[in-house]
Amino acid sequence: MKEGGQGMARKRCEIICVGTELLLGDITNTNAQYIARGLSDLGLDLYVQTVVGDNENRLEQAVRAAMSRADILLFTGGLGPTSDDITKEVVARCLGTELVLDEQALDDIRAFYALTKRPMPISNEKQALMPRDGQLLKNPQGTAPGCLIFGKQGHIAALMPGPPREMRPMLDNLVLPFLRQFSDGGLYSRAVRVVSLGESRMAEMLGDLIDQGTNPTLAPYAKDGEAMVRVTARARNREEADQLTGPVIEEIKQRLGRHAYGVDVDNLESVIAELLLAQGFTASFLEAGSGGLAAQRLQRTEQAHQVCGVCLSAPTIQALANLLHMGPASCEDPAACAQLAGAAAKRLNTGCAVVIEVRERAIACAVSLDGQTRQYAQALPERGAEYYRVQAVQSALDMLRLMLLDRAEAQVK
Ligand code: ATP
Repeated sequence: MKEGGQGMARKRCEIICVGTELLLGDITNTNAQYIARGLSDLGLDLYVQTVVGDNENRLEQAVRAAMSRADILLFTGGLGPTSDDITKEVVARCLGTELVLDEQALDDIRAFYALTKRPMPISNEKQALMPRDGQLLKNPQGTAPGCLIFGKQGHIAALMPGPPREMRPMLDNLVLPFLRQFSDGGLYSRAVRVVSLGESRMAEMLGDLIDQGTNPTLAPYAKDGEAMVRVTARARNREEADQLTGPVIEEIKQRLGRHAYGVDVDNLESVIAELLLAQGFTASFLEAGSGGLAAQRLQRTEQAHQVCGVCLSAPTIQALANLLHMGPASCEDPAACAQLAGAAAKRLNTGCAVVIEVRERAIACAVSLDGQTRQYAQALPERGAEYYRVQAVQSALDMLRLMLLDRAEAQVK
């Protein structure tokens, strides 16, 4: 077993979610996600999650396999009163204990039915069976109580109900506080956000850091036309974590240069909104074929009312040119966006205009900022309308960000 920070053996956890509905794809396994986050906040190791149907043999196999790998097993589902609710019986058996009637649990279930003025079905008595070597976990949100089971070989199992509104408070208020004794600190993550650089290229540039990182570890992700690298440290507190992650984040920024647009920021548009505000600009958006996506993104930022100017959306560049009483603008002409951006910045008197054009398999954009205009056009592979929109908007916003950075740097010099 792995050694913990203070030389103490660190407990390993596994999550087992029980329910045929999960296997059929009828519901999303949000319980596993919620529990995983709770365990990672405590810094407990989690290497495997399992989903298994309401089938006694397969559940037993899953439990025994988990017991061979881990010390703490967290279950959700299968605690109900019906015959396919088998989690408690099976786990108790695997951990070497038996179920006995728990008067306290039975009283709680009776009280729940009395309160809701419904007769209690006999089958509900089954829910009051509790492991002899265990501990009841009260469920004020429903009838199925959970329990902890302490196994003969030192395993600990936490059994929680399936419905998330019952499982979450039980986890947060009872299970995680109990598991805290096994934690030697938490996992603290920071995210470096990256634009205009694919995930694979980014991974190449950071390859040695990713391969060698142990504390912190680095994990690259791709996300809606962007990439991100998550830097995660195991530490006793945030301050200690920051000391571990700080130098690594500096190194990442150094290597990725301006592609790294922020650390722990909300998104690209929030960074742009800050830059616009700092330099006193309002940006106008003229978008053809992108459904006004760039403007919508800026309008969702905190600074929207200070940095968003006129936002126009139309199917074609020509329609936008007409609105500004400009001459014919051919979409075959790559300079059309640039001309429109320059003219819009003047006419709309905002000092900054962003023009975007999305066509079938081609995008173009231009930004005019403080009298300077830059343009960009690219043909794209066959991927569908949503992809073109996201790429066009991302290219335009990044061009705006780079121009704002250049301007800020030129002013410092
Ligand atoms: P009950 O007392 O309601 O029978 P239970 O503990 O037996 O609870 P299940 O019957 O397995 O739980 O699931 C009840 C409901 O909880 C499911 O229909 C589903 O809506 C939800 N649920 C179960 N497991 C999960 C999960 N892993 N993630 C999200 N929701 C879940």
